Amino acid sequence: MSDGPVVTRFAPSPTGRLHLGHAVSAIRAHDYARERGGRFLLRIEDIDGTRSRPEFVAGILEDLAWLGLRWDSLVFQSERLATYDVALETLKALGLVYPCFCTRAEIAASASAPQGDVGPVYPGMCRHLSADEVAARAHLAHCWRLDMAKAVAITGVLAWHDAIAGTVVADPLAQGDVVLARKDAPASYHLAVTLDDAAQGVTDVVRGVDLFAATDVHRVLQALLGLPVPTYHHHPLVVDAAGRRLAKRDGALSLAEMRAAGEDGVALAARVRGGVIAAVSRC
Ligand code: GLU
Repeated sequence: MSDGPVVTRFAPSPTGRLHLGHAVSAIRAHDYARERGGRFLLRIEDIDGTRSRPEFVAGILEDLAWLGLRWDSLVFQSERLATYDVALETLKALGLVYPCFCTRAEIAASASAPQGDVGPVYPGMCRHLSADEVAARAHLAHCWRLDMAKAVAITGVLAWHDAIAGTVVADPLAQGDVVLARKDAPASYHLAVTLDDAAQGVTDVVRGVDLFAATDVHRVLQALLGLPVPTYHHHPLVVDAAGRRLAKRDGALSLAEMRAAGEDGVALAARVRGGVIAAVSRC
């Protein structure tokens, strides 16, 4: 928590068009800052070079402007890769990360791979490879994983505060050895988002409740890297008529489609603020 001005952010990944769920999150983050004379930042989470596309970045800017939102700064994660690398090297020097050569298929095939809230819990095949085994495979594609048990042995029990849920005692072991640097990208969501929120002085992280468990991981990284801990506001998700949260892959109506259908963005934002929008479906 901080005594200075409130700083919030909206941090979309440019991997598709924004839908109403994104709009709700952006409006909440924006208004939380504005109502307190604070700053609202926009961060484009474009470290996934295979899925991020420039037209989706343009779409995000267009959609937010249509909703009547203005941001005080715009940052692209793709321009911050060196920072992520420094943090990864720090964790390597502490002996807390290890290279993992497993494929998705191998992990999925492992009988002991339960689903965590933020993805499958890694069964640990590469956790105890010897230096020789690592050297023999070093030419193969690999990611870097956090040895969560080792990390927790250093940090001890951690907590964080959610303005909606209250104080949360973190259970990072439930998320397993999360990826910090991907095979195809120099950082993972977890590492980049934690470093960026700290670097940008974000005091209040406003985001959907689907990322609630991820915060346990972020709290561990904050402790290991000596970063400040923001207050979190994990808000409910917008769901469709079937009660499913909106998702691009399920064909949720995009803000661009709403705009094309003649919807007024500022009026839509007013309905969101008035709590009128709770559930929306395509049909
Ligand atoms: N980039 C993430 C997403 O689009 C959100 C990150 C966050 O708010 O922490 O789902």
